[in-house]
Amino acid sequence: MNIILFGPPGAGKGTQAKNLETKLNNFQVSTGDMLRDEIKNNTEIGKKIINSMSEGKFVDDQIVNKLIKNIIFDPKKKDKLIFDGYPRTIEQAKNLDMLLADSSQKIDFVFFLNVKKDTLIKRIEKRKILEKRSDDDLNTILKRYDTYMETTKPVLDYYSNKSNFKEIDGGLKIEEITSKITDILKV
Ligand code: AMP
Repeated sequence: MNIILFGPPGAGKGTQAKNLETKLNNFQVSTGDMLRDEIKNNTEIGKKIINSMSEGKFVDDQIVNKLIKNIIFDPKKKDKLIFDGYPRTIEQAKNLDMLLADSSQKIDFVFFLNVKKDTLIKRIEKRKILEKRSDDDLNTILKRYDTYMETTKPVLDYYSNKSNFKEIDGGLKIEEITSKITDILKV
């Protein structure tokens, strides 16, 4: 089963992806984690993206699309993907459709974790203290929220009229969200 977890930064996509990884024996595909690793390992990609990431801007579609391609075509991960933070643009959504079709896969469910802006700000501030993420200062948070509203909203519209689209109240407790998702997945 392949799943997309969708929602603004701080909606709890990463936490839910980790819970579902364990329950489904699937693999989290977090482009944010992959990009942070590129920076940490000081790779050529890392050097290119460090500025846009610390400013809360999106990394180029081409870079992100290239990173996920290998994962989609990895036979160990086939039909076991949990996308967290991808796709974020219409270009990426179309690229994902193409890669899935080319690898004889599909998306089974899109979960939209919907959270209000002030809840998000509080959550991200807490996460900043716990995880010491360099892209989590308040200005970056607001920039990331605005970028989400401007650029990712059309992706939401792209998925929201499909029958496998499920909206979940992302303001609920972590365990409540997980159980709502697993009820729908019947696992
Ligand atoms: P995340 O950990 O998913 O919140 O992502 C952190 C940052 O990584 C974002 O603010 C973007 O700068 C970058 N990023 C992650 N995923 C993508 C993506 N699919 N497209 C473009 N940029 C991304």
